[in-house]
Amino acid sequence: MKVNPQYNTKETLLALYNKPLLELVFEAATIHRQYHNPREVQMSSLLSIKTGGCSEDCGYCPQAARYSTGVDAHKLMTVDSVVEQAKNAKANGSSRLCMGAAWREVRDNKDFDSVVEMVQAVNDLDMEVCCTLGMMNEDQAKRLKNAGLFAYNHNLDTSKDYYKDVISTREYEDRLQTIDNARKAGITVCSGGIIGMGEAIEDRVGLLMSYIEMETPPNSIPINALVAVEGTPMEDQKPIEQWELIRMVATTRIAFPESVVRLSAGRTKMSMEGQALCFMAGAGSIFAGDKLLTTPNPEFNEDKAMFDILGLIPKQAFADGEKPETKPDAIIEEKKRKQAIREQELADASFQPRKITVE
Ligand code: SF4
Repeated sequence: MKVNPQYNTKETLLALYNKPLLELVFEAATIHRQYHNPREVQMSSLLSIKTGGCSEDCGYCPQAARYSTGVDAHKLMTVDSVVEQAKNAKANGSSRLCMGAAWREVRDNKDFDSVVEMVQAVNDLDMEVCCTLGMMNEDQAKRLKNAGLFAYNHNLDTSKDYYKDVISTREYEDRLQTIDNARKAGITVCSGGIIGMGEAIEDRVGLLMSYIEMETPPNSIPINALVAVEGTPMEDQKPIEQWELIRMVATTRIAFPESVVRLSAGRTKMSMEGQALCFMAGAGSIFAGDKLLTTPNPEFNEDKAMFDILGLIPKQAFADGEKPETKPDAIIEEKKRKQAIREQELADASFQPRKITVE
């Protein structure tokens, strides 16, 4: 993954962002065509495998336990139900499944073991598997990689300066560390941001600068528009104009020519023409399906119709990298071994019914 050397300072990037819109889109479209097939757009599905009840205080998030947003907390889905949803998403054209858990961080417990099994099972379906589980350490990242995880999503959300106005329960550095852990384990990195949270243009550029300053920028960069949810501290934020989203997509495309720019939350507020300009400007992926974790999203059928009209083709899985191999997980193998022993013992035990005497 590389950075465009023409725009690797805050000043040049800001000037780029502020270019006349159609000039900006044209420049982005030109770069997009040099590095990507402009007709291909990946359909990805985002599944909330554990919803709500999160201890963090991200100001935009309806899943934070401290906000009254009407989101019902659910415990972790079962492996079988995740596989069923993944098959359904694949049948509808998705080649990537992103599984999101509303956790502050990954813990080494039963739930994480289940997530490892989910990754193995979805990778076996020949879909790109992405997880977004909060902070994780290097060992946890290695375990996920071993299970066949293709990508780890961990958004920086905004600039380092504005971050403290959005979240107080963790530091920007914590995010950078998790991204580094994923990278070291050999997992591709998906990291992006949200615009429309009351930030300045400089913060949008500041977010991109954080990626420019990394040794390797993310393989994929999701760009979201805030979906203001009642009950969150950002409930009164006015929706941004779609032009701003187009501008952000185009600027990201130009700054990171090889990365996949993902047009993510906020599409329900865009016209098809607005989305078409995003594809023109280099968006190479959308989230498909009627829900994005807990917020609304266009339905599969609407997107299929849009693809037909615009002449877009759904991108196949692993077009941007090899399919990871699923290797046996030591913890899960040990659990299976113990379970098999227990079942055998039960089968071997001779059953002696208690003698009942009726007087
Ligand atoms: S964005 Fe993630 S970490 Fe933040 S409150 Fe929501 S679920 Fe928790």
